[in-house]
Amino acid sequence: MRDSPERLAEASDQRRQGRARVLAAIRRAGAIARVDIARETGISAATVTALTAELLAEGLIERIEPEGRAGAMRRGRPREALKVRGAARLMAGAKVSHRVITVLLVDFEGAEIGAHEVRRSEIASTPEALADAIVAATAAACAAHGRALSELSGLCVGLAGHVDGGRGHVHWSSALDRRSVDFAPVLATRAPCPVFLENDANLVAKAEQLFGRGRGVADFLVVTIQHGIGLGLVVDGRLHRGARGCSGEFGHTKVTAGGALCQCGQRGCLEAYAGGYGLSARAAEAGLPGLDLDGVSAAEAAGDPTVCRILSEARGYFATGLANLVTVFDPELVILAVETEGTHPLCTPEVLEEVRRLSLSVDAPPTEIIVHAWGDRMWAEGAAAYAIERVEALAVERRPLGQSA
Ligand SMILES: [Zn+2]
Repeated sequence: MRDSPERLAEASDQRRQGRARVLAAIRRAGAIARVDIARETGISAATVTALTAELLAEGLIERIEPEGRAGAMRRGRPREALKVRGAARLMAGAKVSHRVITVLLVDFEGAEIGAHEVRRSEIASTPEALADAIVAATAAACAAHGRALSELSGLCVGLAGHVDGGRGHVHWSSALDRRSVDFAPVLATRAPCPVFLENDANLVAKAEQLFGRGRGVADFLVVTIQHGIGLGLVVDGRLHRGARGCSGEFGHTKVTAGGALCQCGQRGCLEAYAGGYGLSARAAEAGLPGLDLDGVSAAEAAGDPTVCRILSEARGYFATGLANLVTVFDPELVILAVETEGTHPLCTPEVLEEVRRLSLSVDAPPTEIIVHAWGDRMWAEGAAAYAIERVEALAVERRPLGQSA
């Protein structure tokens, strides 16, 4: 009796889902015994044995020798644990910033291989020149750490702006000299591996979900605060992208009709007041040119009345906008992700208190708001995390259809 194509397709889909769940359980646990994978996933012990045998044969996971500790013993025999095999794949996460391309190389376990930074000669480039620069920076990162570009299994690129990651399309980004660019294909012709493009704030949300404070949280928001202001929305465990891939453009929500000119071309956007460049521009307008974020903070600490007024306005707009987000989405957690090591001028206790005061109040614990000071590698780490997720999905798919274990 022959199986119908439909039955074979269904069986293969079930197998793929089983592989994905087993690999996810191993990644989540760090190291885990087969019996615990079965318990966590609800997959039968026999199927877990078959699926882990496949994953071992493909080199995606590896055994950890039991150490004979009492806790690892069962019926007198040490239990063998399984873990993701770091050497299985090499991935790169690249973030295009104002003047710099930062590349982070990671292995399949998420361990860092090394980072590399290349300066950009211009802020806005042609799509071809930007793609060349990203691939060259990635090649330089590989070379700097004794690896070859050809070893990469995936490259994820994070861009600021209105980026439709699903379609690989850039509606608008300050890194490109034109609007509406199908940028993923331009990159793909230059890279030796699959390329994934994503809005940079979504990547930070991914990193929080996979490796950070968002682990195991179904509904959370990540607000990235730096040059601009971005938002990654995780709703019911999934990144929410919107119909055109443009959801979460918190920095371009309007805080005042008309208002200051934003780098997106519209007026009155939140980041034109509260983003790093917005603060600099408002200070320059008021006769204090050349102040960066550190300069603004220092001027406030010195009691400069102009800067104090500009920061007070920015904090008011930011707190109101954030409170509106909390009221609309009712998240369990809000993560304010900043690139600085120390305190960011928008993330003061007073601002967080104002957000709580302005948010919808109900008879339940309020939304938790935390500040995560990532340091300057925030974006590249997000891109690397997303590269791992996408390469893992490809590795799970790669099993030949209909083949039994
Ligand atoms: Zn704008």
